[in-house]
Amino acid sequence: MLTSFQITSPRSYFLGKLLPEWDDPVESLEQEREGMTHALIIGGGVAGPTAAIALQKVGIDATVYEAYATTAHDVGASMGISLNGLDALRTLDAHTVVRDAGFPVPRGVMWLGNGRRLGEGHTGTPLADGTLPIVIGRYDLYAALRQEALRRGVPIHHGKRLAHVEHRGDQVAALFTDGTEAVGDLLVGADGIGSTTRRFVAPHAPRPRYVGLIGTGGITRDVTPQFDPGVMNMVFGRRAFFASIASTDGSVWWFANLPRADEPTAADLAATSGWRWQQRLLEAFAEDRSPAAPLIRATPPDYTWFPMHDMRAPKRWHRGRVVLIGDAAHVSSPSSGQGASMAFEDAVQLARCVRDRVDPPAAFDAYQRLRADRVGKVLAGARQVNRSKAATGVSRVLRDVTFPLLMRKFNTPEAFAWLYDHRIDFDRPIDDQPAANDR
Ligand SMILES: Cc1cc2nc3c(=O)[nH]c(=O)nc-3n(C[C@H](O)[C@H](O)[C@H](O)COP(=O)(O)OP(=O)(O)OC[C@H]3O[C@@H](n4cnc5c(N)ncnc54)[C@H](O)[C@@H]3O)c2cc1C
Repeated sequence: MLTSFQITSPRSYFLGKLLPEWDDPVESLEQEREGMTHALIIGGGVAGPTAAIALQKVGIDATVYEAYATTAHDVGASMGISLNGLDALRTLDAHTVVRDAGFPVPRGVMWLGNGRRLGEGHTGTPLADGTLPIVIGRYDLYAALRQEALRRGVPIHHGKRLAHVEHRGDQVAALFTDGTEAVGDLLVGADGIGSTTRRFVAPHAPRPRYVGLIGTGGITRDVTPQFDPGVMNMVFGRRAFFASIASTDGSVWWFANLPRADEPTAADLAATSGWRWQQRLLEAFAEDRSPAAPLIRATPPDYTWFPMHDMRAPKRWHRGRVVLIGDAAHVSSPSSGQGASMAFEDAVQLARCVRDRVDPPAAFDAYQRLRADRVGKVLAGARQVNRSKAATGVSRVLRDVTFPLLMRKFNTPEAFAWLYDHRIDFDRPIDDQPAANDR
């Protein structure tokens, strides 16, 4: 465990050089923070290990507590990581391990089910080292982050499910369902959409909301791709949404979203056999001009179906020494392609705020202010996409008429720069005027 706080910001460094020793703000900040050295991180998914790495960079050592006994859950789902997310990891020198566990997908092309090409989706400016947006298996992402955190000396304990949180003076305790506990100076709730930490921080927070779509996906090597590797083809079909990408290794990754008005339970979904689901998927895409049918037929129907959710952030993301990050704080539904990237950004911004503020509440306030507008905007964008995916009947006809017009008017690189070209300057003190793309 570290014994004092390490200040890394250049402003602090220069002020320290300019001011007389007796008035050194760096030293007094360190003194005030004396003793705040250890963070408990709940959740070993995406946000948790990233936050541990980021906090380590500002001199706080962290331990990750993960509910699952192993890391191999949710195997199978694929995820896109966009350039803003990869750049957030770059500030921690951690983007290459994630990038290299996936494959580059620098282009997206959007189509209507009638075969009309809507245009290219913009994905932002590649990073200075040539890094492009990627698609990665969910398990591979978890494993890469976990390995990187372990490599940097972060302890990760499995089989530790948080049950309660308690403040004890200037410390906070995590109480686990197995009867054990851990005590630290701050607690970061990175425990995902069903967060237990959120119940402690914001008992009346908005609950996850079903967005009217269910999703699944698969990978096949048994179809020769009809399109170039690294291009995500997205088809807004007559009855459902289908996306597919040829990987650099010749496999094709696909995913589908089906509108469904009422939220199914896991039991409802499991009650239908894989073959029946395959039939339903084939029926859903039968009228579309899309690569769906051969890809679905070539994939063994051992689908994992998931109802899609989103969730507005609570009014306050923190309470005392406890703060929420990633899906525990806000959920922008898989349609945004931003859940993991937002989690990376949260982790990095949280570390900067902890570095630059004296006590946890002040740091957490600053962190929430840095993040709230941006995650709200991502959530709103995903809701629009969900409406397009779920359109049926008249609204689908309207969508097909207006979509090409909207694409022509609004689909410009500039319109998406706020999202994909967002870059965080880790070393810049949070009080400095933000650069245009660092908000
Ligand atoms: C099917 C699907 C597709 C998606 N596609 C994309 C995509 O393309 N791009 C993208 O950026 N995002 C995507 N997302 C969203 C993305 O997965 C999440 O936003 C991201 O994983 C959030 O990271 P997190 O660490 O906050 O939560 P999680 O990754 O869910 O991690 C939370 C962790 O906390 C653990 N945990 C939960 N409760 C407790 C407890 N009480 N005690 C201890 N540990 C606990 C969980 O086991 C888990 O390991 C997708 C999500 C889904 C479901």
